Amino acid sequence: MTQGRLYPNYLGIELGIAEKLAIKAIAAATGEVEDRVSAAYRKTGDLGTVAEDLLRGKGQLRFGGERLTVDEVYATFDKIARSRGPGSTESKIKLLTELLAKSTPAESKFIIRMAVGKLRLGVADMTILDALAVAHGDGKDSRTLLERAYNLSSDLGVVATTLLTGGMNAIESFKVTVGKPIRPMLAERLSDPREILDKMNGTAAAEYKYDGLRVQAHVSQEEVTLFSRRMENITDQFPDVQKLLKEKLAAKEAIVEGEAVPVDSTTGDIQPFQAISQRRGRKYDLERMVEVIPIALFLFDLLYLNGRDYTQDQFLERRNTLGELVEGRERLNLSSQIIVNEAGQLDKFMEQAIADGCEGLMIKSIGPDSAYNAGARGWNWIKYKRDYKSEMQDTVDLVVVGAFSGRGRRGGTYGAVLLAAYDQKDDVFRTVCKCGSGFKDEDLSKLASLLKKYLIPHRHARVDSKVEADAWFTPELVLEVTGAEITLSPVHTCGIGIVRPGSGLAIRFPRFTGRWRDDKSPEEATTQTEVIEMYQTQLKKLG
Ligand code: AMP
Repeated sequence: MTQGRLYPNYLGIELGIAEKLAIKAIAAATGEVEDRVSAAYRKTGDLGTVAEDLLRGKGQLRFGGERLTVDEVYATFDKIARSRGPGSTESKIKLLTELLAKSTPAESKFIIRMAVGKLRLGVADMTILDALAVAHGDGKDSRTLLERAYNLSSDLGVVATTLLTGGMNAIESFKVTVGKPIRPMLAERLSDPREILDKMNGTAAAEYKYDGLRVQAHVSQEEVTLFSRRMENITDQFPDVQKLLKEKLAAKEAIVEGEAVPVDSTTGDIQPFQAISQRRGRKYDLERMVEVIPIALFLFDLLYLNGRDYTQDQFLERRNTLGELVEGRERLNLSSQIIVNEAGQLDKFMEQAIADGCEGLMIKSIGPDSAYNAGARGWNWIKYKRDYKSEMQDTVDLVVVGAFSGRGRRGGTYGAVLLAAYDQKDDVFRTVCKCGSGFKDEDLSKLASLLKKYLIPHRHARVDSKVEADAWFTPELVLEVTGAEITLSPVHTCGIGIVRPGSGLAIRFPRFTGRWRDDKSPEEATTQTEVIEMYQTQLKKLG
């Protein structure tokens, strides 16, 4: 109550008394007309002082000599916060009026300020932890352990109760609880792979850094609760993620963390993050959204499992146990990870991450001190991101050289095509992306029928590809495609070895524009040289 709150923030329950209702309660408790209360409020700008002045004017000192207790105020506010539905407005006014009738003028000031959400003493969570350390712990030194307990529960009330009932021993052995969000561990940032490895004492785990929404999932027999990075309860926005965990995570009770990422409903490829944000705040067409923009969850940490708190364990212990719960099932995956000890490995893995639709890498310590540091930003996690993003200015015309079988709604037909640019010098077609986006249903059936006549049983001799397609074609059909940008790629062969040894170029997040370039022969498609030029212009523009 010192903070003007009744519950921990993550519960998202507001006291929620509108000023209009507070005015009614003040009027009822003081016997004034509402207009006078409103007029006084307009003058002072503080309903608390208005209540105090009016009660004092009325000569109210204390109801029957009885003192209002903190417990009683809390219990009444709790009732107010929980009253919902028809008749709740009247009952809120009544409860508040009764409180005011029992309070002294000074008490009424704070009761009203708290009711309307304007009690601002400026007492931060950390100040309360300091106070608890001094008042009930072993002095200031207890602060670190108290803070840890707070980071593991996000609930000052529970920390205080634990301390007052079990002392510092109980705080020392404080464990996470399913249903109470753990404050997330955060990363530092560096842009030089050598420096990163130095910080990690030479070896570390490198993971794809997915560009999505961080989700902390609390799974129990009864329910699955999802918390955001800011510890808001976002369960309702992601019924599909809830279902995924309920059905596919092999654990009775667990707290896991991962990144929720939008994927293409037919190819399973990662989509740009914007797709996920379209879901937020949409209540009504959520059902449709869940189908159009499915979500995959890439789990990267385990904090609790079947009665055991894992937050103090080393990272690889947590990760290995997590691996046993997830066996690469569709849409519920582990984050891609390798163990690295050379800067070159980091750069290669980075290229692969970008090519797979990620925004960079997360490098994580695997040393003896690699516990999960709840609520802390530190060097145990380092993000390695490219610090630019760009947009492709022009569309490109690419040749279909292969295709992949569709899944889900695209079962029985092609889900995506393998596209190539033309290399004039060697007279071959070199792959530059796999594209499954932008095709409407009618485009897909047209695609299948057009491609029928070019189908061949193996890769065409003029096609240079490291990717294995499900079907191969004589290079003939040309499509217009847009994309987010051109990036280095470990898998595509367009421009291979020209920009960087061993790397080709790829179009990121490619999308069919709807234009069939049947006016173009495959040799008139966008050339490798043009793709390289586009890549270089893009780099120049980014400085
Ligand atoms: P940033 O938001 O740029 O500070 O980067 C940290 C965020 O990256 C985390 O909060 C996660 O949401 C996200 N992330 C994506 N992939 C991973 C991963 N493999 N491990 C940890 N965090 C990840």
